[in-house]
Amino acid sequence: MKTNEVLKAWAGILAGRKPSLSIEITKECPLRCPGCYAFDAAHLGGETALRQLSDFKGSELVQKILAIVDREQPLHVSLVGGDPMVRYRELEALLPELESRGIHTQIVTSAFRVIPGAWKNYKRLNVVVSIDGLQPEHDERRKPATYERILKNIVDAKITIHSTITGNIASRPGYLEEFLRFWSARPEINKVWFSLFTPQIGATGPEILTQEQRVAVAEELLRLRPLYPILDMPEGLIREILSPPATPADCIFALTTGTISADLRTKITPCQFGGEPDCSQCGCIASMGLAAVGHHRVLGPLTAGHLFHASDRIGSSLRAMKRTFSKTSKEPETETFTILSN
Ligand code: SF4
Ligand code: SF4
Repeated sequence: MKTNEVLKAWAGILAGRKPSLSIEITKECPLRCPGCYAFDAAHLGGETALRQLSDFKGSELVQKILAIVDREQPLHVSLVGGDPMVRYRELEALLPELESRGIHTQIVTSAFRVIPGAWKNYKRLNVVVSIDGLQPEHDERRKPATYERILKNIVDAKITIHSTITGNIASRPGYLEEFLRFWSARPEINKVWFSLFTPQIGATGPEILTQEQRVAVAEELLRLRPLYPILDMPEGLIREILSPPATPADCIFALTTGTISADLRTKITPCQFGGEPDCSQCGCIASMGLAAVGHHRVLGPLTAGHLFHASDRIGSSLRAMKRTFSKTSKEPETETFTILSN
């Protein structure tokens, strides 16, 4: 991110806006991955499930997303789902619009469908393909988006791989190195990111890493990063795995990212996981990355995180004042995302 973009983000936070948006552009997905948080009953707070929402298609979807973007003026937009490639025609219309607005855009997909080679021409687009481990484990979890299909569908593309490490994977010595060796040899891959599986509060199961496994994974990633340049995870970010934010209120990622579901009205809180995520066991790369930025010392003991939280408090107060004013003057409420009701 350039200096002028950082300043723009800061100005937006002071004005009560979030510099990053994550939009579930569809409720549809051809996969049924175990552990998928988007289709978890708790994702939207428990009363409604993602598949029960009304979503949009065609030019209506495109226009509604652009209206949100023009109102919120984010620097970064993540298009997720479901699987956003279900709406690939709409993406073809959206991407040039987002690029022309100078917005950094990320599409997170299983690559069940071809990633068009022409998308490489967008300077601010990052296509992220979710790959859950080596072929046997991945194919079992994510069919029909199998390794064979992904390799065909990314052949003309440049992508980032995002892999979520589960407890099962963490228990297998050498697994992460084998994964990096395989994908380092592929010309379509720009970089590889790892997250750790993040459970809901009180959840149990083999996907959840033990504390010993978290420590072992962090140590292994620190060992691997100089050996595999494709692993795009700075040392400071990896170390944050060992001390995730205590609560959503401490999570800079959650505080700087607005997340909206497929009806383009429902806000997902406290972060993209929805429900009641267990922050103490969070392993989300975005959260870890921004935590590392937050711990960066700006002046003496003053960190970027101190500046952010102070700015966020100012922005939140301003926003609350605007809401109070709009209620007392009997104008329609302009709460983020809710003005798109239809
Ligand atoms: S591809 Fe993503 S949205 Fe679809 S089921 Fe799997 S994890 Fe969930
Ligand atoms: S991203 Fe992680 S730390 Fe942040 S609110 Fe969500 S679960 Fe908590």
